Amino acid sequence: MSYMALYRKFRPQEFSEVKGQDHIVTTLKNQLKNDRIGHAYLFTGTRGTGKTTVAKLFAKAVNCENRQEDGSPCGECPSCRAIAEGRSMNVVEMDGASNNGVDHARSIIEEIAYPPTEGRYKVYIIDEVHMLSTGAFNALLKTIEEPPSYAIFILATTEVQKVPITILSRVQRYDFHRISIDTISARLADLMEREGVDAEEKALRYVAKVGDGSMRDSLSLLDQCIAFYPDQTLTYDNVLNVLGAVDNEVFSKILRGIMNRDVSEVIRVVDEIIIEGREIGQFVTDFTWYLRNLLLVKNIENMEDILDISTDNLKVMQEEAQKLDEAVLMRYIRVLSTLSDQLRNATQKRVMTEIAMIRLCRPQMERDNDSMIDRIRSLEQQLANGVVVAAGSAGADPATAGSAAAADLTKRPFPDARPEEVDAVLKQWNEVLSLLDPMRRQFYQTATPTATADGELLLVVDIAAGSDGSLAYSVLTSETAQQEFQQVLNNFTGANVKVRVESNQTGVPAEKLYTSGPEFFKRAEEFGMLVEEDDIEE
Ligand SMILES: [Zn+2]
Repeated sequence: MSYMALYRKFRPQEFSEVKGQDHIVTTLKNQLKNDRIGHAYLFTGTRGTGKTTVAKLFAKAVNCENRQEDGSPCGECPSCRAIAEGRSMNVVEMDGASNNGVDHARSIIEEIAYPPTEGRYKVYIIDEVHMLSTGAFNALLKTIEEPPSYAIFILATTEVQKVPITILSRVQRYDFHRISIDTISARLADLMEREGVDAEEKALRYVAKVGDGSMRDSLSLLDQCIAFYPDQTLTYDNVLNVLGAVDNEVFSKILRGIMNRDVSEVIRVVDEIIIEGREIGQFVTDFTWYLRNLLLVKNIENMEDILDISTDNLKVMQEEAQKLDEAVLMRYIRVLSTLSDQLRNATQKRVMTEIAMIRLCRPQMERDNDSMIDRIRSLEQQLANGVVVAAGSAGADPATAGSAAAADLTKRPFPDARPEEVDAVLKQWNEVLSLLDPMRRQFYQTATPTATADGELLLVVDIAAGSDGSLAYSVLTSETAQQEFQQVLNNFTGANVKVRVESNQTGVPAEKLYTSGPEFFKRAEEFGMLVEEDDIEE
């Protein structure tokens, strides 16, 4: 027996099976009961929300010889059966996308002149009606305005703004809503029970979430999952596997990287996801959804029922949400939404995603209000951590502040750094690097940082033959780079950190030469690396 898609197999045959559109179903049932049926309807709403399903149900109901009490068609009378089998002359389905010309509209108008030979109504369902040509719309206009008593038009569209106002003013309009995750997953659970398939509730909720308000999409996603794991319990993990989803832990890792301005960590995690073969667009959508959940957790209490996440995860998210500013979260969501749109037609999806991630890490790159808030938050955090920001430049980030403010900052006499302040720089090296100009940062990344006994920050660049450190070394010793780096350090620690850049020509990687501090000098001497004599005062 051939497999029948869930969506076809369980297409609602009664009004009570239509989920999530109670506002529409109730009105239509009342019209049927009171025999006050309209002649022209417009069903609008996103894909898979039940427009065509309700149109067909209604078409059956108006012709049914034994309507049920709630107005639903009986499904058994000759008319119901003929419509179900697609051989009724009373229901004409037409796809506005493929039959969009004037000629087709004219043939409808000619046909409509003849009353039905059996049954009460002729129902014309025109799907994707916004695709009709202007000529076709005009041809239909008069018929829709004054249809014969036995004719009913049901126009369906996902893009109501493209339907001419002349049509809109002549129809009863019904807006189909996106269906909530609760409603969809309850329906999925019901169908799985009928199919005799074991499925975890969490698994079905996840399918419903990815279905994004569309019952049809949710059902075909569920089909995919079942096809992948036939005769097995459908677990959350299985669903995650099939739908190429990324779990919360990964999102949390990326988010932490973004908050720490750790570009390399963020890119690393994203690349990992891509290498694993996940679909990038889906990943971006899921990450956006995760941030949206954080935003809700932050603002509303008792979110368990609304968010589809476990209690454990909720606790983690609540902690995470505490650390985030609302406006900053909104900026993240906005950047990612834009990315989502761009990815739809992009070929360089990976590059675009990486750029967006860098943008999230570096609000300095942007100049809109949201980014300003993000930058201010970053500075506030530094202040809270005891970092002094020069008066007159509060709210400005050293990396992009106007040159006047930047000058103020360098002039400010910072106290000499204590050893623990230099240690703090080493411990948060990635964060320090993320504050640098991206063009120079990559060169700093090649240097090995360490603290000297007398409280200097020493950067060692490997330049032995075969390594490509020479360019890095010349950048790091250039005046502009040194000034920028000094400024970042001063601002980061609130102290004046002395910096020295040295080259390592031994051929042994610098990080293998020492651990830190005085040890370095011993080992350095041992290996005959470094430096002018007077630099070693040990
Ligand atoms: Zn019937």
